[in-house]
Amino acid sequence: MNKQELEKIKQKALEEHIPIIMDDTLEVVDEILTKLKPKKILEIGTAVGYSAICFSEYLIVGGKIDTIERDEERILQAKENIKKVGVEEKINIYEGDAVEILPTLNEKYDMIFIDAAKGKYPFFLKEALRMLNEGGVILADNILYKGYVMSDYNKHKQRTAVRNLREYIAEVTNNPNLKTEILEVGDGLAITRKLGKAV
Ligand code: SAM
Repeated sequence: MNKQELEKIKQKALEEHIPIIMDDTLEVVDEILTKLKPKKILEIGTAVGYSAICFSEYLIVGGKIDTIERDEERILQAKENIKKVGVEEKINIYEGDAVEILPTLNEKYDMIFIDAAKGKYPFFLKEALRMLNEGGVILADNILYKGYVMSDYNKHKQRTAVRNLREYIAEVTNNPNLKTEILEVGDGLAITRKLGKAV
């Protein structure tokens, strides 16, 4: 992988205020992927491809990432970026709304990274659980949403998103087949493992 190009992609995204995975969150994901050695990754929310490119380094030989994005301008940039870094054979972009695309997918994934519309997290979780391999892991970024999720303050504009993020947390912590931890890295990261042979 061309690391210099990757650094340029990151800097350009930051300059253009495109929300990309934060460094401390990425460090945690890197550790998880190093141990997991994934064959298939699903990402919901590609933006300009930065996180997908970073994750592609941890795929085993022949592994693939499917990533979903609905913003046409970002899809174009993501395609360009993936090509610049030279990982186009590892990353497939599904173009469109994840709410419509997810129900059409029937693959199995070792890691699923949820990083799109916060109000849709419970729906994304339901779809992710359907497609997660035993021993696999679901990561949900921005789960603490600037602290709103853990605060009593209820007068901000993002109430629906916060309600849905809380619903996501309740589901992953109450389901006996799942084991979840929430880390205060970046904007909050929920790490959920599906209990199975590999755990
Ligand atoms: N994962 C990327 C990274 O770290 O480089 C950042 C993703 S950014 C936080 C979220 C992206 O999800 C945005 O580009 C947005 O257009 C996209 N998005 C939000 N809701 C979506 C949906 N329902 N379907 C598809 N894409 C969606």
